Amino acid sequence: MKKLLTLLPLFLGGFFFSQRKPVQKISYPVEFKKISDEILLNSNSYENLRELTKQVGPRFSATTGYEKAVVWAEKKLKEAGAENIWKQEVVVPVWERGRESLQIKTSGGKWQSLKMLSLGSSEGTGGKDLEGEILLVKSIQEFNTLMSKDVKGKIVFFNYPFDQSIVNTADAYMLAGKYRWSTPSLVGKRGAKAVITRSLTSAFDDVPHTGSMYYDQDDKNRVPAISISAKAADELEKSLGKQKVFAKINTTSGTKGEMINHNVFGEIPGNKDKSVIVIGAHLDSWDISEGAHDNGAGVVQCLEVLRAFRKLNIENNHTIRVVLYANEENGVQGGETYAAQAKKKGEKHIFAIESDAGGFSPRGISLDMIPQRRRLVFAWKDYFLPYGVYDFDQTYAGQDILPLKKLDVPLAELVPDMQRYFDIHHTSEDTFEKVNRRELMLGAVTIAQIVYMIDKNW
Ligand SMILES: [Zn+2]
Repeated sequence: MKKLLTLLPLFLGGFFFSQRKPVQKISYPVEFKKISDEILLNSNSYENLRELTKQVGPRFSATTGYEKAVVWAEKKLKEAGAENIWKQEVVVPVWERGRESLQIKTSGGKWQSLKMLSLGSSEGTGGKDLEGEILLVKSIQEFNTLMSKDVKGKIVFFNYPFDQSIVNTADAYMLAGKYRWSTPSLVGKRGAKAVITRSLTSAFDDVPHTGSMYYDQDDKNRVPAISISAKAADELEKSLGKQKVFAKINTTSGTKGEMINHNVFGEIPGNKDKSVIVIGAHLDSWDISEGAHDNGAGVVQCLEVLRAFRKLNIENNHTIRVVLYANEENGVQGGETYAAQAKKKGEKHIFAIESDAGGFSPRGISLDMIPQRRRLVFAWKDYFLPYGVYDFDQTYAGQDILPLKKLDVPLAELVPDMQRYFDIHHTSEDTFEKVNRRELMLGAVTIAQIVYMIDKNW
């Protein structure tokens, strides 16, 4: 009898199960089209981007511009339909650019001004003129062969260009990138006075690009680090081929302690499960830039994904959380803090995707995860093809979500067409006008579609 009683629920369960209507199978192409239609027909992401770039404007870490952006983001998350909206304290460095100038001259010639930008985190000259002879070096390998007496007291000029033969501009950026972030300590430790770097760009115009650099811990001679445009770099190299050229740098940049900024969150709680899917972008920009592609586009795309999920009444299984990160440009403290707190709280994340490569037409989704997970995404490729999204072979992830890798979270990044991204990246030219409304929205479509797939299947 006892045995029969324990088996009864099983019999009944079987009975009810057989009476239940078969579960309707989701048609992913149909759902993809619904998502795409909602965003392409009803998105307000372009207007949001106009507000963020033109009304809020530059929003560099530790400035009132950033605080303004936080208030704006909270309002926009509410409008998009987020249920829980909150902030997280992040300790960020207070780096100020201050005044800056660069002049050059040949022996016996007159001083001539060149456009320049100090690199982020660079020490300045204390507002005093720093003069010296320019030493042209084409590569780090070449620099390492130089005698110390040749380097001491010089202003070292690295003219390492983007490799134009590399089709993927993100790869060219990574290759040339070390000239920006690591050469200041390289030359400082060998007694140079300053470093001038060529802007990281595939263009040949007269626009200087800024970006972060880092001093080594053991660097006792933290020299000023500045950047000049690609055109200026080529002209300077030509001039150095004929005669000695001298530089006069005068900057007041420097780091003045730390302060509190905030990451901003908005989420739709999961219906079945409290584990989290992160959709991220960074809210900060460089001080000299509206930061339209980098990373205003990513911010408004994240807001748009949340809005579309709400509008379509998608019953998300997992919690979908928009994370707008502080301080990506000069420290990544927003990303580090988020991951550290997630670990401390024991929050489970099943997926994180970032959009931080510009608001251009989507081409793919980069996947930084174990092969088994990658294969699961590969199986969905055909659903994305009608939207022009075909590249699933990249394996990098955005800077802000990268700290989640230590918690074994599968990571992804939107891969847009990046042929024009580095022309304007980290410059005053990265403006709202450079973003195409339709391309921006298509990026949001791709993010919404992959988040939908992960939510339904993982
Ligand atoms: Zn960025």
